[in-house]
Amino acid sequence: MLCGICVKRCPVPEKAVNFRNGSENPPVYDYKKCIRCFCCQEMCPEKAIHVK
Ligand code: SF4
Ligand code: SF4
Repeated sequence: MLCGICVKRCPVPEKAVNFRNGSENPPVYDYKKCIRCFCCQEMCPEKAIHVK
């Protein structure tokens, strides 16, 4: 939904999940920065984020 809640809630200062492909595209991950706190998954109102 491009709401950006996942980006806002990511606690990593450089944002492990962010609008890297422009604000009209869904946020994407930089897994090297991700600390696996799962805040993004918990806060997504659309349940669009899944852990594999
Ligand atoms: S799991 Fe945590 S650190 Fe990784 S992208 Fe989501 S909110 Fe950011
Ligand atoms: S993944 Fe969820 S929280 Fe992130 S922009 Fe999409 S709908 Fe919003």
